[in-house]
Amino acid sequence: MSEPVSSTPAVSRPDQVATHCPYCALQCGTTLSRERERVIVRASDFPVNRGGLCQKGWTAAELLDTPDRLRRPLVRNAGGELAPVDWDTALDTVASRVRRVRDEHGPDAIGVFGGGGLTNEKAYLLGKFARLALGTSQIDYNGRFCMSSAAAAMTAAFGVDRGLPFPVTDLGSADVIMLAGANVAETMPPLMRHVDSAELIVIDPRRTATAERAALHLQPTPGTDLALVLGLLHVAVVDGWCDDDYLRARTSGFEAARQRAMCWWPERVERVTGVPVSAQRAAVRMLGTAQRGYVLTGRGVEQHSKGVDTVSGFINLALVLGLPGQQRSGFGSLTGQGNGQGGREHGQKADQLPGYRTITDSHAREHMAAVWGVSPGCLPGPGRSAYEMLDSLGTDAGVRALLVFGSNPAVSAPRAGHIVRRLSALDFLVVADVVCSETARLADVVLPVTQWAEEEGTITNLEGRVLRRRKLREPPEQVRSDLEVLHGLALRFGEPGDRYPSTPCEVFDELRRASEGGKADYSGISYARLDAGEALHWPCPETAEPHPGTPRLFLDGFAHPDGRARFTAVDHRPAAESVRSDYPLHATTGRVLAHYQSGAQTRRISELMDAAPEAVVEVHPETGGRAGLRDGELAVISSRRGSTVARVRLVGTMRMDTVFLPFHFPGAGRANLITNPAVDACSKMPEFKVCAVRIEPYHSAASGPLAQPLVDA
Ligand code: SF4
Repeated sequence: MSEPVSSTPAVSRPDQVATHCPYCALQCGTTLSRERERVIVRASDFPVNRGGLCQKGWTAAELLDTPDRLRRPLVRNAGGELAPVDWDTALDTVASRVRRVRDEHGPDAIGVFGGGGLTNEKAYLLGKFARLALGTSQIDYNGRFCMSSAAAAMTAAFGVDRGLPFPVTDLGSADVIMLAGANVAETMPPLMRHVDSAELIVIDPRRTATAERAALHLQPTPGTDLALVLGLLHVAVVDGWCDDDYLRARTSGFEAARQRAMCWWPERVERVTGVPVSAQRAAVRMLGTAQRGYVLTGRGVEQHSKGVDTVSGFINLALVLGLPGQQRSGFGSLTGQGNGQGGREHGQKADQLPGYRTITDSHAREHMAAVWGVSPGCLPGPGRSAYEMLDSLGTDAGVRALLVFGSNPAVSAPRAGHIVRRLSALDFLVVADVVCSETARLADVVLPVTQWAEEEGTITNLEGRVLRRRKLREPPEQVRSDLEVLHGLALRFGEPGDRYPSTPCEVFDELRRASEGGKADYSGISYARLDAGEALHWPCPETAEPHPGTPRLFLDGFAHPDGRARFTAVDHRPAAESVRSDYPLHATTGRVLAHYQSGAQTRRISELMDAAPEAVVEVHPETGGRAGLRDGELAVISSRRGSTVARVRLVGTMRMDTVFLPFHFPGAGRANLITNPAVDACSKMPEFKVCAVRIEPYHSAASGPLAQPLVDA
């Protein structure tokens, strides 16, 4: 952490800009300046970070000049090498090859895979390009692997999904906060400033850095969070913690949810989850007696094949205690990716149109068709979700040509070995990125695009606040913005140029009109208002007097027609894959402090690589001893899908039945070589957080030494 430098309303000097960190959804405020040819990052006194940054934010400038920055378009030549070409050659190649696939196999043989780090403007134009220029329904993005379960559950319960329906700063007045599957001390360290004064209840199979600071740590068996929260609801009902007035006035559907919870008495829950009855009762008592209590979920409980039901279970618990939609308490989910919130609102999701509209809704289709100047019948319907699309690549009925913008599924997708084989089976692969990621290395065409400090735009952070991303310096000469790339491609597909504006401000103005009247209404937000330093949370409709935005949702009623929040009656079921004699351990995956997502950016930062240079596997010493593992040596971790290699770290606080692997590393160290792609039936979220594995010393593994290096950034 550090001393604050300034607040962040707008540009101050030509060699200095107020902007935000390029990584996670907290979107810490920073001031960037050019000092003697170097870019310096300083923390600003922005509300979410109050002068603090984590190690990733401090070191972000190094990425701007990474030696392997993509600086020219690349096209794979007859010899199989990616060779530099000019932009016209690259875009002409993309257009002709994609057109050939479309002519032979139809528009749905073209896929588009976006990213939760793209600005709002890029996400919006990418969705429009896919549906109008390409005419395909096959567009989805890596945010499907991040927020989709929470989004579905919150939409069902509250009528709208905004990760935090209140500002982060509200957490500062909490007296009790339940963090379910969220390790914020490592993933969003500045957020700890807001939660530190509260008593924390942490639910996590690992004793994480966040759990170390908790008043109460519940350590369930991986895959049993839903049983645990059903038990907590049971205790709340039986021990008399229900807020009956709130239930009567503000909710519906309690009785069905209550009946399900009655089957999950504490002793049964202890048998299934391993969490003692006393700890279950203590957790409910802490939340029940809180004057200002919050329940927050993260990927730990969401990235499961029952992720939606699990989040619904936590919402049910919050509702029975009367927390959501109150001035000083609430429920929320902590969004992960930098623009994980905005990225799911503007149309790069398979089932969505801009403004958080549903693609099958006839009114939504008419609205968007009018904004885009086409007939509603021109708009494709819903397409495959992210994993389903990746699984279809190169198959007869699947996607044959894929365009990837700002994503690295070769590392980040579940069952990653299979996904690399599918990517390799494509007729044609295009990747637009900043560096030659593991996915870009498989591509036929690689397009070098701008990054963070080289571009303008907007990002929407985890609290639904729309923020300005500002440019400090020009990109390298042959690097273009994603908007320019989409404009150039659209022209080659015969689209009118003015349908694809290539400046962020123009795109945002169209996005405002597209979102008007939708759940995520940005129509009252403008660059001018944001540059004046206004804090604008959506919905912010265009009104006669400038609308102040909506920092707190649901205070006057939830977003269902009757104004009530809805309970969902959920029941526990096992993980998609159970442990058994040949795969006797649970594996769970997650992030470490020094790295972000697939690591394509952070693995290029020397200080971060010094801190966390390679894949590790955390194992309890007794488990390690039984398997013949020694601290610091390599191990092979295998599931039914493949094997990964990691350096053993013996950790006394690990559960003896569980190992943990971070998922940021490439090559043989990819944690996702073993993860289970079983998806949630509703959200299509894969089960990243639990699968069955065995672990053995590297030198004696039956699979033998693996071909790929452990680190090949
Ligand atoms: Fe803040 Fe997240 Fe960036 Fe760290 S990675 S500085 S927590 S925005």
